[in-house]
Amino acid sequence: MARFIFITGGVVSSLGKGLASAALGSLLQARGYSVRLRKLDPYLNVDPGTMSPFEHGEVFVTDDGAETDLDLGHYERFTGVPARNTDSVSSGRIYSSVLEKERRGDYLGKTIQVVPHVTNEIKEFLAIGEDEVDFMLCEIGGTVGDIEGLPFFEAIRQFSHDKPRGQCIFMHLTLLPYLAASGELKTKPTQHSVKELQSIGIAPDILVCRSEQPIPEKERSKIALFCNVRKEAVVAAYDLKSIYEAPLAYHREGLDQAVLDAFAISPAPKPDLRVWEDVADRIHNTDGAVNVAIVGKYTQLEDAYKSIKEALTHGGMANRVKVNVSWVDAEVFDTTDPAPHLEGFHAILVPGGFGERGTEGKIKAAQFARERGIPYLGICLGMQMAVIEAARNVAGMANAGSEEFDHEAGEKRFTPVVYHLKEWVQGNKTVARKVGDDKGGTMRLGAYSATLTEGSKVAQVYEGTAIEERHRHRYEVDTKYRAKLEEQGLLFSGMSPDGRLPEIVEWKDHPWFIGVQFHPELKSKPFAPHPLFADFVRAAVETSRLV
Ligand code: GLN
Repeated sequence: MARFIFITGGVVSSLGKGLASAALGSLLQARGYSVRLRKLDPYLNVDPGTMSPFEHGEVFVTDDGAETDLDLGHYERFTGVPARNTDSVSSGRIYSSVLEKERRGDYLGKTIQVVPHVTNEIKEFLAIGEDEVDFMLCEIGGTVGDIEGLPFFEAIRQFSHDKPRGQCIFMHLTLLPYLAASGELKTKPTQHSVKELQSIGIAPDILVCRSEQPIPEKERSKIALFCNVRKEAVVAAYDLKSIYEAPLAYHREGLDQAVLDAFAISPAPKPDLRVWEDVADRIHNTDGAVNVAIVGKYTQLEDAYKSIKEALTHGGMANRVKVNVSWVDAEVFDTTDPAPHLEGFHAILVPGGFGERGTEGKIKAAQFARERGIPYLGICLGMQMAVIEAARNVAGMANAGSEEFDHEAGEKRFTPVVYHLKEWVQGNKTVARKVGDDKGGTMRLGAYSATLTEGSKVAQVYEGTAIEERHRHRYEVDTKYRAKLEEQGLLFSGMSPDGRLPEIVEWKDHPWFIGVQFHPELKSKPFAPHPLFADFVRAAVETSRLV
């Protein structure tokens, strides 16, 4: 039976609860325990799949095809445990399940209420798979006191009450603001936040205090006394140069020890932190830097491409170089020459995206990379754009385009080299979709296998010909044009096992030009950089030596 750690936040949002949870997960693993991390989000969307990346950041996709919060990406990157559909839940999903049951008559005519029906639904969710791991870490999104978060707080309170004593603990993240004028760290917001938590029946066992300044002993004792936690359980969280220093930093500050103490686990197993020491060494001891352009649409919010940014960092770690990422808005050169915007970069990455806006610019970026011999990695939409570019500019199909843009515009304008996929095979079953289907959860989602061509660039990069990667898209490159494109040198070097769906394309006579229909960034880890990103950055290093 798992021990539960509930992680909440107070004072302000964006304190790094997700990172703290992920780092704690990795520290418990370093002590020999198995862990699973979960995110409970109070918003009413059923999942983040339909939320704008501008607003909510990237949608993280799991192997089993769930569209989840980007914090699940942190969890995976720090613990290596593949997240599941049942590791992310929102109020929307909880309510829709409660309402479904109500319509079905499952509640036998009872009045449906937040307590107990909604809270019970949350508790059932929390208990899924509790026998599988030593520790279950559950992060509650938002800040204590938010109206929509209340059912979650009530549910975790009840959950810990239902369990035997000592099986659940509460960890609360707060902020200690620094007043420069008086040179003081202020503890009052933390005290208020804990009071708020206590008023709903939750007494935190551990306080993680974000602070820009070292926390003096006096302040630490004051927080401990007024918030009713042990002094050793007041853990400092200082700003870090890299998020990958977090496990070592939290260990130094005693977080994992405080957690084991709170569960009265004694003697505590010794931690093995070699993985994180190596990660830190690779971040701090680099030799040179490369400049990579991410040519996308959602460039105002870096979180929109969170996993790509992290995977590039991992690629840098694999090569011991720093990767400087520049965000380039594709729309800027939709109708002009891209050269002034792209010259000087050692590699170009075109990420995933939806809708036609900015795609002409992305097509130009692919052309620029192909003609100049600059390493190019096209991900999902970035692969589709590379294929359209090849069809238009190399294979003489001036009108090549994607059906996605015609659907959006409501008129037929292009010869679709990328078409809307309506039926495909997943494992041993066939999945079917129609054009007018709901937007939520109706894409080709989750892990699919691909077979790579022996002797191809990608087979060399992956060091094998059988791979499995995560997908999230509606449209596919049409095999109808395969022969025509391959004749020109654009090889379809990765296909779905049934040979129907192109998964990877690569230019034969180019130093490094690869487009993939899936999202390799979702599986990259600091301690196991994804081979595509590691090799892409290696190619960028080579380019940097040429100029
Ligand atoms: N919009 C494209 C599709 O649905 C690409 C999706 C993506 O890049 N994730 O196929």
